[in-house]
Amino acid sequence: MFDLGGKVAVVTGGNGGIGLGMARGLAQAGALVVIAGRNAAKSAQAVQQLKAEGLRADALEADVTDEASVTALFYQVAARHARVDILVNNAGTTVRKMPQDLSLADWHQVMDTNLTSAFLCARAAHPHLQRAGGGKVINIGSMLSIFGAPYASAYGASKGGVVQFTRSLATAWAGDNIQVNAVLPGWIDTELTQGARQQVAGLHERVLARTPAGRWGAPADLAGVAVFLASQASDFITGTAIPVDGGYSIS
Ligand code: NDP
Repeated sequence: MFDLGGKVAVVTGGNGGIGLGMARGLAQAGALVVIAGRNAAKSAQAVQQLKAEGLRADALEADVTDEASVTALFYQVAARHARVDILVNNAGTTVRKMPQDLSLADWHQVMDTNLTSAFLCARAAHPHLQRAGGGKVINIGSMLSIFGAPYASAYGASKGGVVQFTRSLATAWAGDNIQVNAVLPGWIDTELTQGARQQVAGLHERVLARTPAGRWGAPADLAGVAVFLASQASDFITGTAIPVDGGYSIS
């Protein structure tokens, strides 16, 4: 039910953090994973790690905010690996400023990286998913898809948008046998949140106090949900947003 043998998965931002945690899970379930990121050296290192673990992985350089780069990415995936079955829209960024201090460039950078990228990649993946007879799109939201935070207005807007975009895609592509779901990670220890911990005083302790599981998440905590949403086990699940947060969102 969870076997991904013969499937090709594209994971944007799969060279580190949550993306690599999910890429590893998908590869362990049998998929060939294509890691798409801007930093070629980091992607090569991630592929090397996965291959050393006996997993199948490849890396392609892509800027998911750039339409031509996204088009080239899916062209190359199809040329090298013949198919695309799974897309994980994981690449993301944030600019931590109060809304009144955000520049328009900050706003666009966050929206383009977190939301417009999901549109560009999903649109480019669609013909390949159709050709494969169906497929899976997994969009990465956030706790800030559902909560507000003073220093995360652009980020929250983009991640709220990811959930609504997920619902629209799910309805649009259900007839193509393409299931589209979102994952809402809680506080996960990655480069992104290491920056937040340094900038936001007391954040580390506040997260621990509010998370019933009593710990920060690790990238490996996202592997299971990625496999589930990429596999036939979730074939009748579409348009949902699943928190993976140690209980943060219910406490
Ligand atoms: P990281 O900073 O560790 O990883 C972000 C990834 O995105 C990098 O691999 C980076 O690769 C890639 N990326 C950024 N911009 C682009 C771009 N323009 N084109 C291609 N790739 C890009 O962050 P996390 O692992 O923490 O975050 C992953 C996702 O999870 C994000 O969407 C984030 O918002 C979300 N999330 C994270 C949470 C957490 O607690 N960590 C909580 C909730 C959501 P490269 O530099 O090579 O381009």
